[in-house]
Amino acid sequence: MTEQPVVDAVGLDNLAQVFRDDDLPLPARLAAARTVIQLLTEALEAQRVDVAALVKAAPLDDDTLATLYWEFEDLIPARLLGPFHAIRETVESRCPWTYPCPGCGRDQAVTSRSALRVRQRMEGSVARPGSIHPDTCAECLRRIKDERQGQVDAWFERRRVRVHELRTMPYREYLLTPEWQERRRARLRAARFRCQVCNAQDRRLNVHHRTYERRGDEYARDLIVLCEDCHHLFHRNGSLAPHGEGDE
Ligand SMILES: [Zn+2]
Ligand SMILES: [Zn+2]
Ligand SMILES: [Zn+2]
Repeated sequence: MTEQPVVDAVGLDNLAQVFRDDDLPLPARLAAARTVIQLLTEALEAQRVDVAALVKAAPLDDDTLATLYWEFEDLIPARLLGPFHAIRETVESRCPWTYPCPGCGRDQAVTSRSALRVRQRMEGSVARPGSIHPDTCAECLRRIKDERQGQVDAWFERRRVRVHELRTMPYREYLLTPEWQERRRARLRAARFRCQVCNAQDRRLNVHHRTYERRGDEYARDLIVLCEDCHHLFHRNGSLAPHGEGDE
């Protein structure tokens, strides 16, 4: 039952030997290795051997493993090399593929076959505006993210200050601000320029505040579009105290 197939240790050892043979130039070594691998794969398949289990037990040194991983993608399926998380450290540190970070120009190593495939597919493609180039190194990535976060923070701060202004300025002045004018137009558009009580289209429309709680930063539900008649009626009979003309 435990009888070892002849090709296993011998074949893989040959493979490791081929890689260690410094007399051969790299292309020749790769070609030789390809032949060995093809023979191995065929032999193993013919013997219906569990290839992954076999390779796990085989004497592959780290350099060979890394070379197999990076240079023989077309021949060596990942399962033959074992789970990536198990070989990760070995193959990552021996990655022959590098590319410059577009931020600082320092060389980055590709971290996995799938990352390599993504990079190859991306080559020559047009980046979306605002997207971070995938070749960006971790340091530059951190810097870019910090900058962007800073911009977002600054935007929120400007907005916080402005909303405070809008909330505290005299109400009549608020009604003249571009912010209110824009919000008012948006509300009218949403109501299709009709009174939201009587549906009238042919009368002057006011945008009434149902609450002033969020003045300067109103939710849609804080506002209602009323024709002048309904607006007057509302202030006369409604729960709110009567007040002047126009938007309120
Ligand atoms: Zn960089
Ligand atoms: Zn009305
Ligand atoms: Zn009102």
